[in-house]
Amino acid sequence: MESERRDLAAEVIERCRKTLGLLAGAAFPHFCCSCGAEGTIICDTCATDAFAPLEGIFVCPGCGERSPLGAICGRKACRKGTPLDGSVAAAPYGRPVLRELLRLYKYEGVEEARMALEAAFAGFGRRHRGALEQILSGAVIVPVPMHPFREAYRGFNQAAMLADALGRELGTPVSRAALRRRFRFSSQAVLKDDDARRANVRGSVLAVGAVPGRHYVLVDDVITTGATLSACAAALKAAGAGRVWAVTLLTGLTLHKKTPKR
Ligand SMILES: [Zn+2]
Ligand SMILES: [Zn+2]
Repeated sequence: MESERRDLAAEVIERCRKTLGLLAGAAFPHFCCSCGAEGTIICDTCATDAFAPLEGIFVCPGCGERSPLGAICGRKACRKGTPLDGSVAAAPYGRPVLRELLRLYKYEGVEEARMALEAAFAGFGRRHRGALEQILSGAVIVPVPMHPFREAYRGFNQAAMLADALGRELGTPVSRAALRRRFRFSSQAVLKDDDARRANVRGSVLAVGAVPGRHYVLVDDVITTGATLSACAAALKAAGAGRVWAVTLLTGLTLHKKTPKR
């Protein structure tokens, strides 16, 4: 209850910031979020620099080490630690321009930021088409759901935007009906502790529309500890799903790299 109130307060503050931002935007021109040049929120030069090398990070979702197609490695600790079968991200978390674009889109609703992120994610899809087609073979893309109340308040779900961009680029169906959030919980961003994040999402996702035997590719903006994506994968697998992969724009898994024993 207390965390719900805190959440609501945070959303209201963001809304006010957004409104003020829109008013300011009407009076003042935009500046590139990377180099500061006047014009748009990201100039052509910086967009080229930021998006051209979306290298694709294919890592085990358990330990964060590189693996073919990002499949979970053979370590027991990794297989016990997450129901995900693999993880791929377009770029590492330490990319300031992508992070700033994500912030501008999520918390300030900046339309140009959405378009830039869509283009970046589609470009990542094009560049890694071969690997992604193997991961997406026979699968349905599912964006990580937000609680309906939060989504209604924000006006969009950034995971759904990215899922649509990838689905369009690679001709893969996208389903928003497979998963639903069960109840409100604190935003993962405000919980710094890994255990707190895991406890926060456990049992919070319902696989209401999952089809037994079907493969799924979960899409989200960021994977950090993998707690949210693991909760989604656990729900899908409990409903009989086959393979479940995570594909995100940014990954912090390599930062969290543990060194489990074999
Ligand atoms: Zn620039
Ligand atoms: Zn591993």
